[in-house]
Amino acid sequence: MIRPVAAFDRLGTETAFEVLARAQQLAAEGKSIINLGIGQPDFRSPDHVVEAGKQALDDGQHGYTPAAGIPRLRAAVAADLKKRHGVQVSDQSVLITPGAKPIMYFTILMFGEPGVEIQYPNPGFPIYESMINYTGAKAVPIELHESTGFSFDADQVLANMTPQTRLIILNSPGNPTGGVVPRDQIEKLLKGLEAYPDCAILSDEIYSEILYGGRQHTSLLSYPEIRDRLIVIDGWSKTYAMTGWRIGYGIFPESLFAHAERLAVNSYSCVNAPTQFAAIAALEGPQDDADHMVKAFDERRQLIVRELNAIPGITCADPGGAFYAFPNITGTGMDSRTFQRRLLDERGVATVSGTSFGALGEGYVRLSYAASTEAISEAMVRIRSLVAG
Ligand code: PMP
Repeated sequence: MIRPVAAFDRLGTETAFEVLARAQQLAAEGKSIINLGIGQPDFRSPDHVVEAGKQALDDGQHGYTPAAGIPRLRAAVAADLKKRHGVQVSDQSVLITPGAKPIMYFTILMFGEPGVEIQYPNPGFPIYESMINYTGAKAVPIELHESTGFSFDADQVLANMTPQTRLIILNSPGNPTGGVVPRDQIEKLLKGLEAYPDCAILSDEIYSEILYGGRQHTSLLSYPEIRDRLIVIDGWSKTYAMTGWRIGYGIFPESLFAHAERLAVNSYSCVNAPTQFAAIAALEGPQDDADHMVKAFDERRQLIVRELNAIPGITCADPGGAFYAFPNITGTGMDSRTFQRRLLDERGVATVSGTSFGALGEGYVRLSYAASTEAISEAMVRIRSLVAG
Protein backbone atom coordinates (compact mmCIF):
# COMPACT_ATOMS: atom_id res chain seq x y z
CA MET A 1 0.00 0.00 0.00
CA ILE A 2 1.29 3.48 -0.77
CA ARG A 3 1.60 6.02 2.03
CA PRO A 4 3.06 9.49 2.41
CA VAL A 5 6.29 10.20 4.28
CA ALA A 6 6.28 10.02 8.09
CA ALA A 7 6.04 13.78 8.55
CA PHE A 8 2.39 13.56 7.49
CA ASP A 9 1.62 11.55 10.63
CA ARG A 10 2.56 14.66 12.60
CA LEU A 11 0.37 17.08 10.63
CA GLY A 12 -2.58 18.28 12.68
CA THR A 13 -5.75 20.01 11.53
CA GLU A 14 -8.26 22.72 12.30
CA THR A 15 -11.16 20.98 14.04
CA ALA A 16 -13.47 23.90 13.30
CA PHE A 17 -13.79 22.61 9.73
CA GLU A 18 -14.76 19.11 10.98
CA VAL A 19 -17.35 20.64 13.29
CA LEU A 20 -18.67 22.70 10.37
CA ALA A 21 -19.03 19.57 8.22
CA ARG A 22 -20.84 17.70 11.03
CA ALA A 23 -23.12 20.69 11.72
CA GLN A 24 -23.99 20.96 8.03
CA GLN A 25 -24.69 17.23 7.88
CA LEU A 26 -27.03 17.45 10.90
CA ALA A 27 -28.75 20.48 9.34
CA ALA A 28 -29.20 18.54 6.07
CA GLU A 29 -30.91 15.81 8.10
CA GLY A 30 -33.45 18.42 9.18
CA LYS A 31 -32.08 19.20 12.67
CA SER A 32 -32.15 22.76 13.98
CA ILE A 33 -28.50 23.79 14.17
CA ILE A 34 -26.96 26.99 15.52
CA ASN A 35 -23.44 27.42 14.28
CA LEU A 36 -21.09 29.10 16.73
CA GLY A 37 -18.25 26.86 15.55
CA ILE A 38 -16.47 28.25 12.53
CA GLY A 39 -14.58 31.53 12.85
CA GLN A 40 -16.03 33.74 10.19
CA PRO A 41 -18.17 36.88 10.12
CA ASP A 42 -21.84 36.22 9.35
CA PHE A 43 -21.95 39.36 7.20
CA ARG A 44 -21.72 39.58 3.43
CA SER A 45 -18.63 41.20 1.98
CA PRO A 46 -19.30 44.94 1.39
CA ASP A 47 -21.25 45.62 -1.83
CA HIS A 48 -18.53 47.81 -3.37
CA VAL A 49 -16.03 44.99 -2.85
CA VAL A 50 -18.29 42.47 -4.58
CA GLU A 51 -18.82 44.96 -7.42
CA ALA A 52 -15.05 45.41 -7.85
CA GLY A 53 -14.63 41.64 -8.14
CA LYS A 54 -17.42 41.42 -10.75
CA GLN A 55 -16.00 44.38 -12.64
CA ALA A 56 -12.58 42.73 -12.79
CA LEU A 57 -14.18 39.63 -14.33
CA ASP A 58 -16.08 41.79 -16.84
CA ASP A 59 -12.87 43.65 -17.66
CA GLY A 60 -11.19 40.42 -18.61
CA GLN A 61 -8.94 39.97 -15.59
CA HIS A 62 -8.86 36.23 -16.14
CA GLY A 63 -5.15 35.46 -16.20
CA TYR A 64 -2.22 34.92 -13.88
CA THR A 65 -0.91 37.88 -11.94
CA PRO A 66 2.63 38.34 -10.59
CA ALA A 67 3.21 35.69 -7.89
CA ALA A 68 3.62 38.26 -5.13
CA GLY A 69 0.39 40.05 -6.09
CA ILE A 70 -0.60 42.83 -8.47
CA PRO A 71 1.55 45.92 -7.81
CA ARG A 72 -1.43 48.21 -7.12
CA LEU A 73 -2.63 45.89 -4.40
CA ARG A 74 0.79 45.60 -2.77
CA ALA A 75 1.01 49.40 -2.77
CA ALA A 76 -2.50 49.64 -1.31
CA VAL A 77 -1.47 47.32 1.54
CA ALA A 78 1.59 49.46 2.31
CA ALA A 79 -0.59 52.60 2.28
CA ASP A 80 -3.15 50.92 4.55
CA LEU A 81 -0.47 49.94 7.10
CA LYS A 82 0.73 53.53 7.10
CA LYS A 83 -2.81 54.76 7.71
CA ARG A 84 -3.64 52.20 10.41
CA HIS A 85 -0.38 51.86 12.31
CA GLY A 86 1.64 54.87 11.15
CA VAL A 87 4.38 52.57 9.85
CA GLN A 88 6.46 52.69 6.70
CA VAL A 89 6.46 49.39 4.82
CA SER A 90 7.92 48.89 1.35
CA ASP A 91 5.52 47.58 -1.34
CA GLN A 92 8.29 45.07 -2.08
CA SER A 93 7.91 43.43 1.33
CA VAL A 94 4.20 42.65 0.80
CA LEU A 95 3.32 39.11 -0.31
CA ILE A 96 -0.31 38.58 -1.34
CA THR A 97 -1.49 35.04 -0.55
CA PRO A 98 -4.70 32.98 -0.93
CA GLY A 99 -5.92 33.68 2.62
CA ALA A 100 -3.55 34.62 5.42
CA LYS A 101 -2.86 31.00 6.32
CA PRO A 102 -0.05 30.37 3.80
CA ILE A 103 2.03 33.03 5.58
CA MET A 104 2.20 30.92 8.73
CA TYR A 105 2.76 27.80 6.63
CA PHE A 106 5.65 29.41 4.73
CA THR A 107 7.21 30.96 7.81
CA ILE A 108 7.16 27.78 9.88
CA LEU A 109 8.58 25.84 6.90
CA MET A 110 11.41 28.37 6.73
CA PHE A 111 12.47 27.97 10.35
CA GLY A 112 11.32 24.51 11.44
CA GLU A 113 13.56 21.46 11.36
CA PRO A 114 14.62 18.78 13.85
CA GLY A 115 16.75 20.28 16.63
CA VAL A 116 15.02 23.66 16.45
CA GLU A 117 12.53 25.04 19.01
CA ILE A 118 9.58 27.24 18.15
CA GLN A 119 7.42 28.97 20.74
CA TYR A 120 3.73 29.31 19.95
CA PRO A 121 0.58 30.35 21.85
CA ASN A 122 -1.36 27.61 23.61
CA PRO A 123 -4.33 27.68 23.51
CA GLY A 124 -3.82 29.14 20.06
CA PHE A 125 -4.63 28.81 16.39
CA PRO A 126 -4.11 25.05 15.80
CA ILE A 127 -2.14 25.39 12.59
CA TYR A 128 0.89 26.80 14.43
CA GLU A 129 1.44 23.65 16.50
CA SER A 130 0.47 21.40 13.59
CA MET A 131 3.02 22.92 11.24
CA ILE A 132 5.78 23.05 13.86
CA ASN A 133 5.29 19.32 14.48
CA TYR A 134 5.24 18.66 10.74
CA THR A 135 8.68 20.21 10.29
CA GLY A 136 10.10 18.08 13.12
CA ALA A 137 10.90 21.13 15.26
CA LYS A 138 10.03 21.09 18.98
CA ALA A 139 6.81 22.98 19.73
CA VAL A 140 7.27 24.95 22.97
CA PRO A 141 4.00 26.39 24.29
CA ILE A 142 3.60 30.00 25.32
CA GLU A 143 1.02 29.44 28.04
CA LEU A 144 -2.02 31.68 27.88
CA HIS A 145 -4.10 31.84 31.06
CA GLU A 146 -7.55 33.17 31.84
CA SER A 147 -6.15 34.93 34.94
CA THR A 148 -4.04 37.24 32.76
CA GLY A 149 -6.72 37.86 30.13
CA PHE A 150 -5.14 35.22 27.88
CA SER A 151 -2.16 37.47 27.25
CA PHE A 152 1.32 36.00 27.41
CA ASP A 153 3.79 36.52 30.23
CA ALA A 154 6.94 37.98 28.65
CA ASP A 155 9.09 36.62 31.50
CA GLN A 156 7.86 33.11 30.80
CA VAL A 157 8.58 33.41 27.07
CA LEU A 158 12.08 34.68 27.83
CA ALA A 159 12.64 31.91 30.40
CA ASN A 160 11.80 29.36 27.68
CA MET A 161 14.33 30.77 25.21
CA THR A 162 17.25 28.48 24.37
CA PRO A 163 20.01 28.79 21.77
CA GLN A 164 17.83 26.49 19.62
CA THR A 165 14.82 28.85 19.60
CA ARG A 166 14.48 30.06 16.00
CA LEU A 167 10.96 31.46 15.94
CA ILE A 168 8.38 32.91 18.33
CA ILE A 169 4.75 33.10 17.20
CA LEU A 170 2.46 35.76 18.66
CA ASN A 171 -1.22 36.37 17.96
CA SER A 172 -3.06 39.40 19.29
CA PRO A 173 -6.03 39.75 19.34
CA GLY A 174 -5.99 36.02 19.77
CA ASN A 175 -7.90 33.08 18.42
CA PRO A 176 -9.51 31.22 20.28
CA THR A 177 -9.41 33.37 23.42
CA GLY A 178 -10.08 36.93 22.22
CA GLY A 179 -7.12 37.90 24.42
CA VAL A 180 -5.24 41.12 23.69
CA VAL A 181 -1.56 41.44 24.60
CA PRO A 182 -0.85 44.72 26.40
CA ARG A 183 1.88 46.95 25.01
CA ASP A 184 4.08 46.64 28.13
CA GLN A 185 4.34 42.84 27.74
CA ILE A 186 5.29 43.25 24.07
CA GLU A 187 7.98 45.78 24.91
CA LYS A 188 9.34 43.66 27.76
CA LEU A 189 9.56 40.69 25.39
CA LEU A 190 11.28 42.68 22.64
CA LYS A 191 13.80 44.04 25.14
CA GLY A 192 14.63 40.51 26.31
CA LEU A 193 14.87 39.25 22.73
CA GLU A 194 17.73 41.65 22.03
CA ALA A 195 19.90 38.88 23.52
CA TYR A 196 18.64 36.47 20.80
CA PRO A 197 19.22 38.20 17.47
CA ASP A 198 18.89 34.91 15.54
CA CYS A 199 15.32 34.32 16.66
CA ALA A 200 12.60 35.44 14.23
CA ILE A 201 9.16 36.67 15.28
CA LEU A 202 5.90 35.86 13.51
CA SER A 203 3.12 38.24 14.54
CA ASP A 204 -0.36 37.16 13.48
CA GLU A 205 -2.38 40.39 13.42
CA ILE A 206 -5.37 39.16 11.41
CA TYR A 207 -7.83 40.42 14.09
CA SER A 208 -6.14 43.80 14.59
CA GLU A 209 -9.18 45.78 13.40
CA ILE A 210 -11.58 43.91 15.69
CA LEU A 211 -11.00 45.39 19.15
CA TYR A 212 -13.41 46.52 21.86
CA GLY A 213 -13.68 48.88 24.80
CA GLY A 214 -11.33 51.48 23.32
CA ARG A 215 -8.41 49.04 23.14
CA GLN A 216 -5.66 49.96 20.70
CA HIS A 217 -3.71 47.52 18.58
CA THR A 218 0.06 47.48 18.97
CA SER A 219 1.49 46.27 15.67
CA LEU A 220 4.93 44.76 15.91
CA LEU A 221 5.66 46.70 12.72
CA SER A 222 5.96 49.78 14.92
CA TYR A 223 9.30 48.56 16.33
CA PRO A 224 12.00 49.31 13.70
CA GLU A 225 14.64 47.45 15.72
CA ILE A 226 13.04 44.04 14.96
CA ARG A 227 12.03 44.69 11.33
CA ASP A 228 14.86 42.55 9.96
CA ARG A 229 13.49 39.48 11.77
CA LEU A 230 9.75 40.16 11.81
CA ILE A 231 7.05 38.53 9.69
CA VAL A 232 3.52 39.92 10.02
CA ILE A 233 0.27 38.19 9.04
CA ASP A 234 -2.80 40.23 8.19
CA GLY A 235 -5.56 40.16 5.60
CA TRP A 236 -9.13 40.70 4.52
CA SER A 237 -10.91 37.59 5.79
CA LYS A 238 -12.04 38.97 9.14
CA THR A 239 -11.96 42.76 8.69
CA TYR A 240 -13.99 42.75 5.46
CA ALA A 241 -15.92 39.47 5.87
CA MET A 242 -14.04 37.94 2.94
CA THR A 243 -13.14 34.45 4.20
CA GLY A 244 -14.38 32.71 1.04
CA TRP A 245 -12.51 34.92 -1.42
CA ARG A 246 -9.20 33.55 -0.13
CA ILE A 247 -6.90 36.48 0.16
CA GLY A 248 -4.46 37.63 2.83
CA TYR A 249 -0.94 38.96 3.06
CA GLY A 250 2.36 38.78 4.84
CA ILE A 251 5.09 41.36 5.40
CA PHE A 252 8.49 39.73 5.11
CA PRO A 253 11.95 41.10 5.82
CA GLU A 254 14.21 41.47 2.82
CA SER A 255 16.23 38.34 3.67
CA LEU A 256 13.12 36.13 3.49
CA PHE A 257 10.91 37.70 0.85
CA ALA A 258 12.35 35.93 -2.21
CA HIS A 259 12.10 32.59 -0.40
CA ALA A 260 8.46 33.19 0.45
CA GLU A 261 7.71 34.27 -3.12
CA ARG A 262 9.40 31.13 -4.39
CA LEU A 263 7.18 28.98 -2.15
CA ALA A 264 4.21 30.76 -3.74
CA VAL A 265 5.50 29.95 -7.23
CA ASN A 266 6.07 26.35 -6.15
CA SER A 267 2.53 25.91 -4.87
CA TYR A 268 -0.33 28.13 -6.08
CA SER A 269 1.40 30.62 -8.48
CA CYS A 270 -0.77 33.60 -7.51
CA VAL A 271 -4.08 34.63 -5.98
CA ASN A 272 -6.96 34.76 -8.45
CA ALA A 273 -7.06 38.13 -10.17
CA PRO A 274 -10.65 39.30 -9.47
CA THR A 275 -10.14 38.71 -5.74
CA GLN A 276 -7.10 40.97 -5.82
CA PHE A 277 -9.14 43.77 -7.41
CA ALA A 278 -11.85 43.26 -4.79
CA ALA A 279 -9.17 43.54 -2.09
CA ILE A 280 -8.00 46.91 -3.48
CA ALA A 281 -11.60 48.17 -3.30
CA ALA A 282 -11.84 46.94 0.30
CA LEU A 283 -8.75 48.90 1.38
CA GLU A 284 -9.37 52.04 -0.65
CA GLY A 285 -13.16 52.27 -0.51
CA PRO A 286 -15.51 53.31 2.32
CA GLN A 287 -14.90 51.59 5.65
CA ASP A 288 -18.50 51.91 6.92
CA ASP A 289 -19.33 48.23 6.55
CA ALA A 290 -16.23 47.18 8.47
CA ASP A 291 -17.01 49.69 11.23
CA HIS A 292 -20.62 48.59 11.38
CA MET A 293 -19.55 44.96 11.70
CA VAL A 294 -17.28 45.65 14.68
CA LYS A 295 -20.10 47.57 16.41
CA ALA A 296 -22.43 44.61 15.86
CA PHE A 297 -19.80 42.19 17.18
CA ASP A 298 -19.38 44.33 20.28
CA GLU A 299 -23.10 44.16 21.08
CA ARG A 300 -23.08 40.40 20.60
CA ARG A 301 -19.93 40.09 22.69
CA GLN A 302 -21.62 41.83 25.61
CA LEU A 303 -24.71 39.66 25.20
CA ILE A 304 -22.83 36.35 25.05
CA VAL A 305 -20.51 37.13 27.98
CA ARG A 306 -23.43 38.23 30.15
CA GLU A 307 -25.53 35.19 29.26
CA LEU A 308 -22.67 32.69 29.66
CA ASN A 309 -21.84 34.03 33.11
CA ALA A 310 -25.48 33.56 34.13
CA ILE A 311 -25.32 29.80 33.42
CA PRO A 312 -24.43 27.73 36.50
CA GLY A 313 -21.05 26.04 36.08
CA ILE A 314 -19.81 28.45 33.40
CA THR A 315 -17.71 31.58 33.75
CA CYS A 316 -16.55 33.74 30.89
CA ALA A 317 -13.86 36.42 30.84
CA ASP A 318 -14.35 39.53 28.73
CA PRO A 319 -12.69 39.06 25.32
CA GLY A 320 -10.87 42.24 24.25
CA GLY A 321 -10.80 41.48 20.53
CA ALA A 322 -11.65 39.06 17.68
CA PHE A 323 -15.13 37.48 17.80
CA TYR A 324 -14.72 34.55 20.14
CA ALA A 325 -15.85 33.88 23.68
CA PHE A 326 -13.76 31.29 25.48
CA PRO A 327 -15.76 30.33 28.57
CA ASN A 328 -14.46 28.14 31.38
CA ILE A 329 -16.77 25.13 31.56
CA THR A 330 -15.01 23.09 34.27
CA GLY A 331 -17.92 23.73 36.66
CA THR A 332 -20.25 21.75 34.38
CA GLY A 333 -18.42 18.50 35.16
CA MET A 334 -17.85 17.83 31.45
CA ASP A 335 -14.49 17.89 29.75
CA SER A 336 -14.18 20.15 26.70
CA ARG A 337 -14.58 17.51 24.03
CA THR A 338 -17.60 15.94 25.72
CA PHE A 339 -19.17 19.38 26.09
CA GLN A 340 -18.58 20.13 22.38
CA ARG A 341 -19.90 16.75 21.23
CA ARG A 342 -22.97 16.63 23.48
CA LEU A 343 -23.89 20.25 22.79
CA LEU A 344 -23.90 19.60 19.04
CA ASP A 345 -25.48 16.12 19.05
CA GLU A 346 -28.05 16.67 21.79
CA ARG A 347 -28.84 20.38 21.53
CA GLY A 348 -27.75 21.35 18.00
CA VAL A 349 -25.21 24.03 18.91
CA ALA A 350 -21.85 23.88 17.13
CA THR A 351 -18.84 25.09 19.17
CA VAL A 352 -15.19 24.03 19.22
CA SER A 353 -13.56 22.26 22.15
CA GLY A 354 -10.75 24.23 23.79
CA THR A 355 -8.47 21.22 23.33
CA SER A 356 -8.64 21.76 19.55
CA PHE A 357 -6.39 24.74 20.24
CA GLY A 358 -3.81 22.90 22.30
CA ALA A 359 -3.63 20.96 25.55
CA LEU A 360 -4.01 24.13 27.62
CA GLY A 361 -7.48 24.64 26.15
CA GLU A 362 -8.88 21.84 28.35
CA GLY A 363 -11.70 23.22 30.48
CA TYR A 364 -12.78 25.72 27.82
CA VAL A 365 -14.82 25.84 24.63
CA ARG A 366 -14.73 28.40 21.85
CA LEU A 367 -17.94 30.09 20.77
CA SER A 368 -17.83 32.35 17.75
CA TYR A 369 -20.28 35.21 18.33
CA ALA A 370 -20.18 36.22 14.67
CA ALA A 371 -23.85 35.14 14.61
CA SER A 372 -27.17 36.93 15.00
CA THR A 373 -28.31 37.98 18.49
CA GLU A 374 -31.33 35.67 18.05
CA ALA A 375 -29.03 32.73 17.31
CA ILE A 376 -26.82 33.58 20.28
CA SER A 377 -29.78 33.89 22.65
CA GLU A 378 -31.26 30.60 21.49
CA ALA A 379 -27.84 28.91 21.82
CA MET A 380 -27.65 30.12 25.41
CA VAL A 381 -31.04 28.56 26.20
CA ARG A 382 -29.79 25.27 24.75
CA ILE A 383 -26.48 25.40 26.64
CA ARG A 384 -28.33 26.09 29.87
CA SER A 385 -30.57 23.07 29.29
CA LEU A 386 -27.57 20.81 28.50
CA VAL A 387 -25.74 21.91 31.63
CA ALA A 388 -28.89 21.48 33.77
CA GLY A 389 -28.90 17.86 32.50
N1 PMP B 1 -4.74 33.53 11.82
C1 PMP B 1 -5.69 33.37 12.74
C2 PMP B 1 -5.37 33.62 14.16
C3 PMP B 1 -6.97 32.96 12.34
O1 PMP B 1 -7.93 32.80 13.24
C4 PMP B 1 -7.23 32.73 10.97
C5 PMP B 1 -8.57 32.26 10.45
N2 PMP B 1 -9.36 31.56 11.28
C6 PMP B 1 -6.17 32.89 10.07
C7 PMP B 1 -4.95 33.32 10.52
C8 PMP B 1 -6.32 32.58 8.60
O2 PMP B 1 -7.10 33.46 7.92
P1 PMP B 1 -7.44 33.23 6.37
O3 PMP B 1 -8.85 32.74 6.32
O4 PMP B 1 -7.28 34.59 5.76
O5 PMP B 1 -6.50 32.25 5.81
